[in-house]
Amino acid sequence: MLITVSAGAEKTKRTILEKAADRGFMTQTMANGRGGDVIAVGGALSPDATALPGVENVLLAHKPYMLASLEARGTSTVRVGDVTIGGGAPMIMAGPCSVEGREAQIDVARQVKAAGATMLRGGAFKPRTSPYSFQGLGELGLQHLAEARELTGLPVVTEVMEPDQVELVAHYADMLQIGSRNMANFPLLKRVGMAGKPVLLKRGFSSTLEEFLMSAEYIMAHGNPDVVLCERGIRTSDPAFRFNLDLNIVPGIKAVSHLPVVVDPSHGTGRRELVLPMSLAGIAAGADGLAIEVHPDPDNALSDGFQTITPAELRRIHTRMMAVHQALADTEDDLAGITGIHIREEPVAITA
Ligand code: PEP
Ligand code: MN
Repeated sequence: MLITVSAGAEKTKRTILEKAADRGFMTQTMANGRGGDVIAVGGALSPDATALPGVENVLLAHKPYMLASLEARGTSTVRVGDVTIGGGAPMIMAGPCSVEGREAQIDVARQVKAAGATMLRGGAFKPRTSPYSFQGLGELGLQHLAEARELTGLPVVTEVMEPDQVELVAHYADMLQIGSRNMANFPLLKRVGMAGKPVLLKRGFSSTLEEFLMSAEYIMAHGNPDVVLCERGIRTSDPAFRFNLDLNIVPGIKAVSHLPVVVDPSHGTGRRELVLPMSLAGIAAGADGLAIEVHPDPDNALSDGFQTITPAELRRIHTRMMAVHQALADTEDDLAGITGIHIREEPVAITA
């Protein structure tokens, strides 16, 4: 059940948490963005436990992803260093698929920053299909990322693949990336839930919207509300594309969740010439940002060069992304009342 408690109702919060613990229910408390809190309880408490002063709302019927749902709170934003993801202008995180070396990472960081990116990416621990492919530089790669951040000011997002790596990666990174292949690695999700760093959660390439949001819920239920969802393409039967970017899911998520969403048109297409059009389509669909693979010499990148663009192409995408965002903002008033689309189901409110 989901219980909304007003600001200052500390005693009521404590009572609810105690009663839930007595019943053996897991709980997690999250700010609701209006000064109060929402408490997710992994079971139904009896009315005497919820009819308390300061309880604003009690939901017995709700989505299974309680904290990630729009029923819990309005639009959320995630801060990574000085960068805000969600709720405003779209942003870009960019960099090579893999960290390739110190000078290379510093050079590409400077170039993506000049092209308009506000966050730096690069894999130090790489999930490769072949055990014979480059597996990443490991901790050395994390050190190069951290040095590139010191020199450019760009916060760093990088992948963590194993629960026992979380502390090490969190030491160097500003945001922890959960890769597509690990979206349902629940021990890993629990650990990043406790790591105190924002998380970029990439969608499993065969996962449903609900499974995706349940993975976000794992992280949030373990104390970390700072989750950004990333659509990175799903598997289809068409061999023309490595993956198919599923843009349905962007408005699909916005209809049921408050979490920010970014789109990865690099993995989502597997073809560098598709990155620009699908970036713009993602922004038009309502994404809060883009995650793009960039390398000064894509043909010689150590991994994923075929889907990697140059810094010059990134600059073009940034300019057009801002134009699309502005055009949509300019037409918002004109469109109000015309679309008439209302896909959000109203939650069943059972007032205490
Ligand atoms: C990546 O972004 O570096 C990556 C490996 O992507 P995915 O997990 O989406 O395949
Ligand atoms: Mn890649």
